Amino acid sequence: MSNETIFSKIIRGELPCDKVYETDDVLAFRDINPAAPVHVLVIPKKPIVNVGQADEDDALLLGTLMLAAKEVARIEGLEESGFRLVVNNGAEVGQTVFHLHVHVLGGRAFSWPPG
Ligand code: IMP
Repeated sequence: MSNETIFSKIIRGELPCDKVYETDDVLAFRDINPAAPVHVLVIPKKPIVNVGQADEDDALLLGTLMLAAKEVARIEGLEESGFRLVVNNGAEVGQTVFHLHVHVLGGRAFSWPPG
């Protein structure tokens, strides 16, 4: 599977995004079709398809991604109210963009289990 996705173009600056946070390794931007008042995607700049295709060499980057999600939640004022992190892994469970991303969702109540 080619890992050239719409997120590759966003990382390269070829498509615009509403950026929330960026480091050398990760980029966070608002979801174009938000499912909650706060809906930010945190992605590694390295083109990993999903968690299922990550390997041991990606361990540090995966941790960095989680800490970036925490930082996004702080920036968005979600520390007190809480937030939900979602990582879809595969088309069967709803992954539509095949570049690893963590959804940071907040600003409303959530039910469990997810749909
Ligand atoms: P997935 O379903 O877990 O793969 O999530 C992909 C997410 O990317 C969806 O929530 C889309 O709304 C979002 N998305 C797709 N294209 C763009 C874009 O160009 N900018 C921001 N978000 C996007």
